[in-house]
Amino acid sequence: MPRIAVAGAGPAGIMAALAAHEKGAHAVIYDAAVPLATILRTGGGRCNLTNAGAEDANLALHYPRGGRFLLSAFSRFGPTETMEWFRFRGLPLVEEEEGKVFPRSGKAQDVRNMLQEQARTACVKMSAHQPITSIAPTPKGFQVTTERGEALFDRVIIATGGDWRNPRGSGYDLAMSLGHTVTPLAPALTGFASAESWPARLAGVSIPQARLQAHPTGMRALRETGGLVFTHRGISGPVVFRISSRCAFLPFSSRAPLHLWLSVLEERDKQAIEGRLIAALRERPRQQILSVLCGLMPRRLAQTTLDLAGVATATSASGITRVQRKALVDLMDRLPLTIVDRDKGDEMVTAGGVDLAEVDPRSMESRIVPGVFFCGELLDVDGFTGGFNLQAAWSTGRIAGLAAAD
Ligand SMILES: Cc1cc2nc3c(=O)[nH]c(=O)nc-3n(C[C@H](O)[C@H](O)[C@H](O)COP(=O)(O)OP(=O)(O)OC[C@H]3O[C@@H](n4cnc5c(N)ncnc54)[C@H](O)[C@@H]3O)c2cc1C
Repeated sequence: MPRIAVAGAGPAGIMAALAAHEKGAHAVIYDAAVPLATILRTGGGRCNLTNAGAEDANLALHYPRGGRFLLSAFSRFGPTETMEWFRFRGLPLVEEEEGKVFPRSGKAQDVRNMLQEQARTACVKMSAHQPITSIAPTPKGFQVTTERGEALFDRVIIATGGDWRNPRGSGYDLAMSLGHTVTPLAPALTGFASAESWPARLAGVSIPQARLQAHPTGMRALRETGGLVFTHRGISGPVVFRISSRCAFLPFSSRAPLHLWLSVLEERDKQAIEGRLIAALRERPRQQILSVLCGLMPRRLAQTTLDLAGVATATSASGITRVQRKALVDLMDRLPLTIVDRDKGDEMVTAGGVDLAEVDPRSMESRIVPGVFFCGELLDVDGFTGGFNLQAAWSTGRIAGLAAAD
């Protein structure tokens, strides 16, 4: 029976330990803080634990980095198997819009309780506040050191998560001490701060299907669609997170900003937008232009659009000149935003991590030090919002645990 040390009791580490136990191994988990605490903050406290909407073949597209690497793990333990795994162990699930899957209770705490119960039943020991500080390969196995002492294990699974703020953080240090490369790290899935002050006046206004475009220097043009919310500093929401992930390694600032263009209407091109505006103006010629625009977008955004176009709100629909109409159409098609910073403090995942070329995707085993396995966000893998990051943790964790127990 192999003895396995797991560094990190997050979703990836616990899944790995439970999988290893299932195959008859003896797993011990050490956590630097509180086991499974990271689950509680996920999905706004509801834990969006996977996504049932993506076709298997398309699943990789939801990962700006590492999608192809994950394919092997997904083919063995993808969203379908993950949902079965949780349901079979007594956690009812519910699928919501865009395939997002949550516990039916709506409580991340229930996911944590269930995983803790699984660990208890399997006699997987979880030690809190015991960071692993070093892993040394020896002829007899791996000598694992924590602040409380040393122990010898046959295999080690490193599942210490991501931390872009600390490239010398414990998990990255452990990987590097074993000869692994850690690629540059950056925050992903962030909101944006804009140079313009008008988004602050719209704080709280949300657009269910906004379209964002960007042409970052040195990158291909980006186009994303999804929910957007205006904030006191700029913009946030799923569509913003997607752009932020794609631009995770792009440095931008007030000197070298990222230019975005926002469209809030369903119409995909300028001609269609103009057609819709003309129809709305003709339908209610005596109404104020503000009321007409309110039929197309939220009131505060309509007001802002008129301000930016320099059109008085009291102008009647029939009094709108051709030049004013063109200015409004231009803004409705491409409302410019100058992004000068990422929103600090709401970063959800780390882009970058342990170099995937040094890890076998079929087993998550190190190609440098056999007997060492990696899983979860510590790897150079990150996904969009919608349950994809936890899915990567469950999939890589399960594969690492099964392989380590072999
Ligand atoms: C606010 C927020 C909301 C999120 N919501 C969602 C969501 O709804 N759906 C989704 O798919 N993803 C979500 N994510 C992302 C998701 O939480 C992570 O991708 C996922 O937790 C990664 O799992 P992990 O096990 O790899 O790492 P982590 O969850 O970070 O766990 C790593 C563990 O390792 C421990 N550790 C670190 N160093 C050591 C060491 N040296 N020794 C021992 N232990 C160590 C840490 O204490 C921690 O407990 C969210 C993230 C945030 C921040």
